[in-house]
Amino acid sequence: MNSGTSHISIAIDGPSGAGKSTMADRLGREFGFLHVDTGAMYRAVGLAVKRRGIDVKDREAVEALCGELDIRAELSENGQRTVLNGEDVSKAIRENSVSAYASAVAAYPGVRAFLLELQRETARTQNVIMDGRDIGTVVLPDAGIKIYLTASARSRAKRRFDELRERGEAVDEEEILREIEARDRADSTREIAPLTRHPDAVLADTSWLSFEEGYSLLRKIVAEELDRVR
Ligand code: C5P
Repeated sequence: MNSGTSHISIAIDGPSGAGKSTMADRLGREFGFLHVDTGAMYRAVGLAVKRRGIDVKDREAVEALCGELDIRAELSENGQRTVLNGEDVSKAIRENSVSAYASAVAAYPGVRAFLLELQRETARTQNVIMDGRDIGTVVLPDAGIKIYLTASARSRAKRRFDELRERGEAVDEEEILREIEARDRADSTREIAPLTRHPDAVLADTSWLSFEEGYSLLRKIVAEELDRVR
């Protein structure tokens, strides 16, 4: 239970490309929890930086930009819709080029503080399943259920490659692997809210599992954890 409320929060953390968002979206529907994809929020900030031509290494400029951004995570029939200053950017934030921007802006304290508030506010009033890097450790440390979803870098690269190729984006699998490893490094070594497994988080490693097998594993974990906390 979250302290001070009767709501239950499920925190899912793990590295890029482990399938957190897709899995959390489906789990949310099945168990009746609102899915909040926090990576999409960092992506929205990254997209805004890219579009305005701001140097992503210029921390002050990036943090100042946050004051001009209105980011909303809305629920639609097709899952979460990410709205940036009134525009639906759900598709644009998924472009491969936005990933590196998202990862870079996520290292800035001002950006994290801005999004943290938004994330906590969402969980205050409803049952949420929130996925990201620091949900169980920083955003919702009182979340009754914590899961760490991971897979080897190679298997994540393979899945990402298949997904991008299906979408018609020309990519190289080795290049994707290098990008994933670079993001893993950036996410786990940054000073603020680094990616790390909370000691209470149940570990789910899907390296050797198909999507459906991975989903069954998570479904079982969530059902057991709900029995435990309810
Ligand atoms: O999960 P996704 O790949 O969409 O996240 C994009 C980037 O946002 C990640 O590389 C990570 O650096 C950052 N992120 C974060 N904290 C979160 C969610 C995402 O730092 N809670």
